[in-house]
Amino acid sequence: MPEARVFILYTGGTIGMGHADPEVPNSPLVPKSWEELQYFMPAITPDGYFTQGRHIEFEYHSFEQVMDSSQFSSDHWLMMAAEIEKRYDQFDGFIIIHGTDTMAYTASGLSFILQNLAKPLVLTGSQLPISHSRSDAITNLSNAIHIAAAKAFGLEIIPEVCICFNDRVLRGNRSTKASTNDFEGFVSPNYPALAELEQEINIRKRYVLPMPEKSFSCLRKLNTRVVEIGLFPGLRPEQLARLVLDQEVEGLLLRTYGSGNAPCSPEFIGVLEKARENGTIIVFVTQCQEGGVNIGRYGASSPFATLGVVSGADMTHEAALAKMMAVMGLDLPHDETVRLLETDLFGERSY
Ligand code: ASP
Repeated sequence: MPEARVFILYTGGTIGMGHADPEVPNSPLVPKSWEELQYFMPAITPDGYFTQGRHIEFEYHSFEQVMDSSQFSSDHWLMMAAEIEKRYDQFDGFIIIHGTDTMAYTASGLSFILQNLAKPLVLTGSQLPISHSRSDAITNLSNAIHIAAAKAFGLEIIPEVCICFNDRVLRGNRSTKASTNDFEGFVSPNYPALAELEQEINIRKRYVLPMPEKSFSCLRKLNTRVVEIGLFPGLRPEQLARLVLDQEVEGLLLRTYGSGNAPCSPEFIGVLEKARENGTIIVFVTQCQEGGVNIGRYGASSPFATLGVVSGADMTHEAALAKMMAVMGLDLPHDETVRLLETDLFGERSY
């Protein structure tokens, strides 16, 4: 009898990539099949994984079309969520093998779609393909297996969507991709790591979400009429207007300066006022790597307080975007939507 059952979903990413033309070492990297990836993971046999006298059973599923994660949209989050939901009761933990480029977006999306998880859902990938002699893939995968199969190893369960990378486990909706080169590809700037995997595995329980009281559920629909815009010196109000005052836009995520500052010219404020009159939900986050917004701290943010702008606090922009799509997809009255956006739902914001 296995001590834990883990479901592995392969979606693509560098981890399973190889050169488009194997004869040309500089040809572009493209995703390869699950079979080719599995060839490099001899420990993970179809019979399961035997380690330290423990037996972990796996079930694998590959996206029909494995992809570079830069090709994903929120529809892919829903597809991944559906694969997990189908098997939720049969497995003790879940691993999604994913490209690093949009892993933080997917992890954020899934943290709002798969609600009240009582089991670990671990996203992982690697900076170098698994076939590369110095790849980080095997370490990342093996660490992910330990977290997903925590039950078999007598470890604390991390009942949330997390990213396992470079010997650390980070909360998914607090993570952001920080490097294209370093093995430490992800950081969680406003929240401590949930676990460290050195010789010993140290799960920092006080930072892990508690087991949910409500039962597991899965959202079926997101509102994708959301745009994300980063402020930059010289953004003209009429440019912003073209992007935002579009009937298709129901939510605006604005990456503001510092603690929520933005241009305060009447023209700029006028665009946001008009958007609000159209019913558009406006959320401010910071474009700083660390910290969050505090609307009203400076004169350069106080006009937005009276406009009904929602504070994204210290959420990453990935988490804020995914949360807007999830919460706005519930089709609740405006005040309730704003209340949920300003509430910490799944550990994504501190205040
Ligand atoms: N472009 C790749 C992807 O996101 C990068 C990676 O996996 O590291 O699929």
